[in-house]
Amino acid sequence: MSSTVFDRPGLQGAKKVLKGFAEGASGGHAVLFYGIEGSGALECARELALTWLCPQGGPCRECPVCRTFEAGRAVDFQHVAPWGPSSMIKLDAIRPGQKPTSDPYPGVPLLEFFRSGPLMARTKAVLFEKVERMNPSTANALLKTLEEPAPFGRIVMTTSELGRVIPTVRSRCLCVACELPDQAEWAPADEVEATFGGTPGLVDRVRAHRPAFEELWNLLGQLDSAPPGAAMALAERMRKVGEALAKAEGTSARAGHAEALRCLAQWASHRDPALAIEAVEAHRLVLGNANAGIVIDALMASQAQRARAGTLG
Ligand SMILES: [Zn+2]
Repeated sequence: MSSTVFDRPGLQGAKKVLKGFAEGASGGHAVLFYGIEGSGALECARELALTWLCPQGGPCRECPVCRTFEAGRAVDFQHVAPWGPSSMIKLDAIRPGQKPTSDPYPGVPLLEFFRSGPLMARTKAVLFEKVERMNPSTANALLKTLEEPAPFGRIVMTTSELGRVIPTVRSRCLCVACELPDQAEWAPADEVEATFGGTPGLVDRVRAHRPAFEELWNLLGQLDSAPPGAAMALAERMRKVGEALAKAEGTSARAGHAEALRCLAQWASHRDPALAIEAVEAHRLVLGNANAGIVIDALMASQAQRARAGTLG
């Protein structure tokens, strides 16, 4: 049997809630799991969705519903994640769009999905991932369903930024914290894992793509000692790391570049606050559709200048 959220370290409170739902001791039709990236919020949300769906309860992980869910083909389940260049959850995810858009919602709108009962499962469930990326009109359109969904309708959401989820959405959900494990229970194996990972989910990712993260670690180690002319070469290496990550994870080059910048910000946060601030801004720009090549070149050039001024000063 593949590992489940119950095999993961941490998440004490969330595991209790999940058990409560599985045993029928907890009710509620809308749950929001929150925790920093890699805390396991998405895994908890999937586990709850499956608990709701599986006709055996539990979930059993053996019935056709559980199997199709694991294979990503469950007909009574929808996973909604931010989409398109803006990486937002837009109104089309709740009700059918009025006019055609350049990046249409790839699923069935929630209101349509909840119009008919489940085909195979005990309930129908919709998972909204990164609900902080839901724009206000979408969140408002969701409120009524959150309050009183169809009798068979269940909604589970995740966020890494609870403060950015509008209060009217939060107040209609059972909000469950996804706690990190304490040090006795779990620790990263080395500095690379601790810096670029830091949470169990992110450390798994570092382990899965170790060569790319090691290359990133090595090139960042050269930032302060590189000669002035080396900035562009470092920027080029950084872009390559981003592309390698994108390829390994099957994401877009933009997502890979953004991930490399997130790692740079993590790395700099303990060493070089000025660089960390610039890296966070660069990360934001790349996610916001700026040209990643230009952003990374500019960041490296400015860092080289700062390093040089530091040596001279
Ligand atoms: Zn099952």
